[in-house]
Amino acid sequence: MWIKSARIVDPGQQLDFTGNIHIEKGKIKAVEKASSPMPGTMHEEVIDARGLWVFPGIIDMHAHLREPGYEYKEDVYTGSLAAAAGGVTTVVCMANTEPINDNPSVTKYILDKAEEAGLVRILPAGAVTKGQEGKVLSEMGLMKKAGIVAVSDDGKPVEDTSIMRRALEYAATFGLLLISHCEDRRLSEAGVMNEGALSSELGLPGIPSAAEEVMVARDTIISSYTSCPVHITHVSTQGSLEIIRNAKAKGIKVSCDVTPHHLLLDETRLYDYDTNAKMYPPLRTGADRKALLQGLASGVIDVIASDHAPHARDEKDLDFDVAPFGAIGLQTLLPAVLRLHFDYGLGLMQVLSLVTVNPARLLGIDGGTLKPGSRADITIVDPSTNWTLSEDMIMSKSKNSPFLGETFRGEVVYTICNGQIVYRKNGI
Ligand SMILES: [Zn+2]
Ligand SMILES: [Zn+2]
Repeated sequence: MWIKSARIVDPGQQLDFTGNIHIEKGKIKAVEKASSPMPGTMHEEVIDARGLWVFPGIIDMHAHLREPGYEYKEDVYTGSLAAAAGGVTTVVCMANTEPINDNPSVTKYILDKAEEAGLVRILPAGAVTKGQEGKVLSEMGLMKKAGIVAVSDDGKPVEDTSIMRRALEYAATFGLLLISHCEDRRLSEAGVMNEGALSSELGLPGIPSAAEEVMVARDTIISSYTSCPVHITHVSTQGSLEIIRNAKAKGIKVSCDVTPHHLLLDETRLYDYDTNAKMYPPLRTGADRKALLQGLASGVIDVIASDHAPHARDEKDLDFDVAPFGAIGLQTLLPAVLRLHFDYGLGLMQVLSLVTVNPARLLGIDGGTLKPGSRADITIVDPSTNWTLSEDMIMSKSKNSPFLGETFRGEVVYTICNGQIVYRKNGI
């Protein structure tokens, strides 16, 4: 297959030029400037990509696909459809399923479902502790053999500091990144939104920024003490970012991601009590959001990940204080990243690195680049199209997006995974 005359942007190789890509047997064979002659044979497919942008396939290192156990919210197949439609070719799925992915048989079950779906690459994260109960470490080595690429008790923090220390050391021996959901549950308690003036005004119980920050501080201290890496997921406050910036400056092996919703929305989104904007961590203040945007520009933030968290309509239709936390995001991850480029003046290469080469490096997986010899995972976008997110275009089983009704610039027109077209926009 050939992709012809596209703007090719690959942060991993710092490439940005107009050219052609040759794909053979699921791998990138060559990337050439447009001036080079393009051989191609009769039986090869050619995508005419004039005016289109071509990126390495997008990697989402934090999503919940809900299978096994919560298939009424999402399953591996519908999650794969949503990913493909969003230009995402690799999804890391969290372990808080039912049963929890804390042993190789659950890992294998998820991978079998992913193969059945046959669309995008699904890479499971295993639980840090058995049953995500925070007491006994899971079978990380056996799960790694079965195919996990990271460990996380996401959905919950690892509360016991001694367990966290041993988990970091154990995960490091297997080269598994530990993804930490930072929450002091004594502080977050019954909170449902950011604690502050607005939570008082709306009459909703608050979650203080300190509930996140004390755990970010703890994790970086333990990481420093053990010299083992830790990855802080869904960073939402200015204070957390400051702790991470200081830790990085000292050479501590800490990395972090933020979500599109924390970058593009703040707590004022909750004036209408829309439960689609209820998530953990909660949307924070305008000042926090500004700090996160600055963190992107300064390079403290390593990755943008969706924290795709589907919930059924009847669950989200409850009152704000009892509805579950979480928002979907697989289909809006890349559109949000493009908005950061178009509307916030961040470099295209820079924002793309946060969803391609950076997560690939942190997880130690292949992909995330268009280097010859790599997996042919490719996302093609039409940068000239504006489109508005509506429920009928959401491929997930659940429709709980805080971006419904919002207009984005740049539309995915092709998603190619392992050399196969897994999504093609209607009419193309
Ligand atoms: Zn979480
Ligand atoms: Zn999550």
